[in-house]
Formats: sequence, C-alpha cells, structure tokens
Amino acid sequence: MKLKEARDAINTHVKDLIELCPHCGAKAHIEALWNECHKLRNNDVEFYVIFRCKPCRKLLLKTFFLRQNPYSGNEDLEIKGWTEIFPASLDDQLNKEEKEFIPSEILLDYQEALKCKAISANRAGCAMFRRSLQGALVNLGADPRLDLIKQIESLDNLPKDIKDWAHQIRIFGNWGAHPDKDNLKDIDSGDVAEAHDFTSKFLLYMFIMPEKVKLSREKRKKKTNSGTTGKAGGAEKDG
Ligand SMILES: [Zn+2]
Repeated sequence: MKLKEARDAINTHVKDLIELCPHCGAKAHIEALWNECHKLRNNDVEFYVIFRCKPCRKLLLKTFFLRQNPYSGNEDLEIKGWTEIFPASLDDQLNKEEKEFIPSEILLDYQEALKCKAISANRAGCAMFRRSLQGALVNLGADPRLDLIKQIESLDNLPKDIKDWAHQIRIFGNWGAHPDKDNLKDIDSGDVAEAHDFTSKFLLYMFIMPEKVKLSREKRKKKTNSGTTGKAGGAEKDG
C-alpha cells in the first residue's frame, strides 16, 4: 500500500468509532476531526488522528501504524492498526466523577498505584493499592493496630462476599511486619490487577455508593418540595 492510499483510506473510513473514552470513562461514540502522519527513519508511517468524544465533547488522540516492507526498495506499507491512545486511561474501574467521592489522601495513594500498574511496576503498584486500602479502612473506623484482613473483617456494613474475597488475595496477608514478609517478592501483573480490582470495588462500595445514594435522595426530596410549592397542575409529585 502507498502512503496516499493509506491517507485516503483513513479519510474515508475513519469517521466514527466506539472507544473507551479516557475522560468520561464510558464506551462512547468518538468522531474523527483531523489527522496527519509522519515517516520514521525506517520508512514506517505513523498517523495521529484526533477524535472528539460525542457524549463528553473532550478530545483524544489515537495513533495508527503502518509498517514499510523492509525487503522492498519502493513504498510498500502494511497496516499494523491502532496502537496508542492519549490521554492514557489508567483506570478502567472508576471514572473521574466517582473518584471525587473518595477522601483525598486515599485517592492520592490509589492514583499512584494506578501509575505504577501502568508501567508494570507491580510490586510498587501492589504496595500502593494496599496502602490506599489501609488508609480507607482507618478512615472508616477500623482499628489501626489490626492487620489488613482483620480490619476488613471488622467492618459491619461490608458484604460477606467482599470479605471472603479479601481472604483470597495473597498480598493482603502478613503486611508490614518485615520487608521480607510483605509477600511482594513474587508479584506479577495478575496480582496487581487483582489488588486494583478489589481496591476499586471496595472504594466504590464504601465511599462512592453511599454518597450517590445520598445525592439521589436529596435530588428526589428537592423535586418533591418544588412539586408541592410549584404551580398546581404542572407539578409532579413522587412519594
Ligand atoms: Zn468522553
């Protein structure tokens, strides 16, 4: 394929895609706005395509790669496809709005854990997820002298399923006694993914959902109040 053909194909066919938007966190319709390419030293070609997310209106950039046939003296490009997306989405579990409900100290540790996970710093990632979890537990009133699993056990309003899950997570046991005994020695990407999964669900259950319920209740109350004081006939009432 020639570069001109590739450009024509992108202009013709890359219009509307479905993508996990790094801003709003939803699988959303994104619309292509502009593209340009550059040639690498070895004649591979990289296209930069700017998209707008239809629901949240924010912009993102995706790169599209074509590889030059190394055995050909002529322009001979082979499609490799989409490679990167900017801004990178570090968290596929919680979106930005939801994170506003998490106390800032806990969120700081959680965000740092995400950055470690993104660069495969698995031990640091696990340690930071665990740290954010410990911060959350103490914030929720758990006894700071207890170990992590016992702190999780002590929460009355945490469902049994989540407590049982915590027991299955190897790196949550024996934390803090000694660097050799922190279970971080043989950590892999699966461990950090599970620590992320658990911590995000925990934060969702203990901090985000209660606030969402509260907001929803307030909204409903407001609506009911304006319904009773509003003009007769048009006002709706819910009970
Ligand atoms: Zn969006």
